[in-house]
Order: sequence, then structure tokens, then C-alpha cells
Amino acid sequence: MATDAAHQRLRRGRLSFKASRAHQAAIDDARCYDGQVSEHAVRTIPHDLKTVFLDRDGVLNEKMPEGRYVASWEDFHILPGVPEALARLNRIGLRVIVVSNQRGVALGLYTLADVEAMHAKFERLLQSEGARVDAFYVCPHDTNRCNCRKPLPGLFEQAVAQFPEISAATSVMIGDSLLDIEFGRRLGMATILIEGDMTRERRGAEEARALADWHFASLPQAVDGLGRGWSEAQTSSEP
Ligand SMILES: [Mg+2]
Ligand SMILES: [Zn+2]
Repeated sequence: MATDAAHQRLRRGRLSFKASRAHQAAIDDARCYDGQVSEHAVRTIPHDLKTVFLDRDGVLNEKMPEGRYVASWEDFHILPGVPEALARLNRIGLRVIVVSNQRGVALGLYTLADVEAMHAKFERLLQSEGARVDAFYVCPHDTNRCNCRKPLPGLFEQAVAQFPEISAATSVMIGDSLLDIEFGRRLGMATILIEGDMTRERRGAEEARALADWHFASLPQAVDGLGRGWSEAQTSSEP
């Protein structure tokens, strides 16, 4: 079965982006707008990758303009190809965890219950597309008030409390902001930056790009990149 084979490959520890010429080409494609491939690009993905941590806004659903928040389901616009990309991660056997800063709760723009209701609707929609998220963790606090606002590690710790088998060494963090990349790097995870609409000015974008191990335009493209790494690993492992 394809799923088992993919999982076996992961377990055999053959997954290496550095070893994969096809994947390097994909990385080069993703970077072609500036023609630069930084040292970070050849970092090896954890060979026994098990958990994918995902930021929410700007990765799964459209980010609102600066200073505005996704306050209700009406604002929750799922990005193209996201359910399929999540289903693919599910099929490979990776755990999918969403970690999201929701400062809008602290600002009184919406409640934690509103966030949970949005996630419940999102999960129902994913279910109808054959995809799922294993858990959502949300920081509802304002800046400098807690240990769980990314890039602080609290949401990772909450995930580990629920799934003790999670380790940073076998995880990757995928996000669209500097906070996400810092969160992943501080914990020692591999990191992927989702760049989204490059025409939109974003604070910390340059720094995030320099810090991240890889960058892709969208989550589906990042998952494609992972998939290419896996099929390449399979081909090269066959006698
Ligand atoms: Mg984001
Ligand atoms: Zn918090």
C-alpha cells in the first residue's frame, strides 16, 4: 500500500533533501525570483520526520490585512489546495498540529470560543475532503504576557503534554512569519517559510527568509517539495 511504503521510507531514514537532486531543483525553482540559494537550503530534513507544525493565518487560510484579524468564519478563507495538502500529509502518516497566535482575543475582538467554533467548522470541511488536523493550540494572550505566544515555546509544550512522543528533532515548523521561523529554530526544528503573496509588504520578511531552512510560495508547494524528496528517496533506495 502506498501509505505504508511512504511510511517505511520515512522509517528507513532515507529522506534527505540534500541527497535529492529533484528536490534541489524544486528548491531552486522556489528561489528563482532572486537566484540565490543560501546555505540553509541544504539542511537535511529529519530522516524520521513525524510531526508537522503549521501556523494558521497565511498558511491554511488567508491572512487579513495588517492590523485586522480573522474574527469569524466569514473571515476564514481557506487557501487554494490546502485540504488536499493536509490529506497528503495525513496519508504519509505525519501528525499535523496547528499552532496559532490569536492576540485578537486579548484585544477583545473575538473570544476563544469563537476561535474554537471556527476550528470546528474548518475540521468539518476538512473531513468532507478526507483531511484532518490532529490538534489545534492557540495563544489568546497579548504580547509579553505569557509563555505561549510564538516565538515562545508554550504551544509546543502543550502539544508535547498531549502527545508525549513528539520531539523537535523529528518535527518541522511551517509558517509565514518571522515569529514562526524563530519559534521553530529556538526549539531546534527544521523550518519552512510560506511566502504567500510576495507583492505584499511584510514586517520581518527578509529576516524570516534568511533564517528559514526552505521557503515556498504556499503550503501545497511545500508539501509537494516534501513529496518529491520522498519519491526520490524511494528511487535511490531501490537496488
Ligand atoms: Mg501567520
Ligand atoms: Zn499565550
